[in-house]
Amino acid sequence: MTSSENCTKCGEEAVITREYEGRSLCKKHFSVDVNKTVKSTIRKGEMVESGDIIAVGLSGGKDSAVMLQQLVEIFGDRPDIEIKGLAVHEGIDGYRDESIRAAEKLCDNLGVKLHVARYSDYYDLEMDEVVKKDIERSNCTYCGVLRRDLLNKKSREIEANKLAVGHNKDDEAQALLMNYIKGDMMRLARIGSKLVNDNDFVPRIKPLRDLREKEIALYSRLHNLGVVDRCPHVQEGSLRPRVKKFLNDLEEEMPGIKDQVVANGREISDLVEDEYSFEDSDLSPCEKCGEPSSNEVCRKCQLLEELQNM
Ligand code: SF4
Repeated sequence: MTSSENCTKCGEEAVITREYEGRSLCKKHFSVDVNKTVKSTIRKGEMVESGDIIAVGLSGGKDSAVMLQQLVEIFGDRPDIEIKGLAVHEGIDGYRDESIRAAEKLCDNLGVKLHVARYSDYYDLEMDEVVKKDIERSNCTYCGVLRRDLLNKKSREIEANKLAVGHNKDDEAQALLMNYIKGDMMRLARIGSKLVNDNDFVPRIKPLRDLREKEIALYSRLHNLGVVDRCPHVQEGSLRPRVKKFLNDLEEEMPGIKDQVVANGREISDLVEDEYSFEDSDLSPCEKCGEPSSNEVCRKCQLLEELQNM
């Protein structure tokens, strides 16, 4: 993706050549283009409005760092919009300590307050202990469910009315295909651009959903938005890595195919949204924790019970 060509706009040395668009861009014009894309995504999705308090989920990765930097660049001067950093400490020594330090530094540089929520405070467990148990599912299945729950809970606690998550176009292409393969219409419907409205769910916004993973990585390198190593407990399951490889191989042969997958998938998502949308599903408070759930006991409480009984 990096290039030895010249910028199509100004003739300076290019940092990227987009084969799917047939143009090259220098650092300056690439950065302007990234910012324009994020602004357009936010505008089209009606993601931000006056009075919003936005919690920005920070994972230590490139996506969330670029997302925070972009949101501050776009809304930092607006007195009617507040941005707060939000990081989760899953109890993964070393890796997560380092990523929280990186998040603190980033937030300091951007003038944003960082809030940290810990599994040990909310669930009385740490992932370093969970992975030593004889667990039935992948580490990330337990951790992902707890993480989603905690991001939502903590966003409410810090009075955020939006939660920004760093999903990019590659994530979305993978999610669309996986939901299609699994026939998971509920999740497919939720990929649509409309915000979920429920008193207990803080609506999620995805300002990077129109940016490709490789371009976000390039942007973070060009602007020194540091990235911390991968989690040592990562176990992605068997389907996602295959779908990811399949899409990357296709893109290699047919530049632009991921855009088509996402554009077509969004259309299908919009079509099934009314039928399967969250508000229509039968949500009620979980019997154990009171969080909204489509079952009597929510998935997080089921998994926590499973862990306690091991
Ligand atoms: Fe948790 Fe998996 Fe993410 Fe590690 S990679 S923090 S185990 S979800």
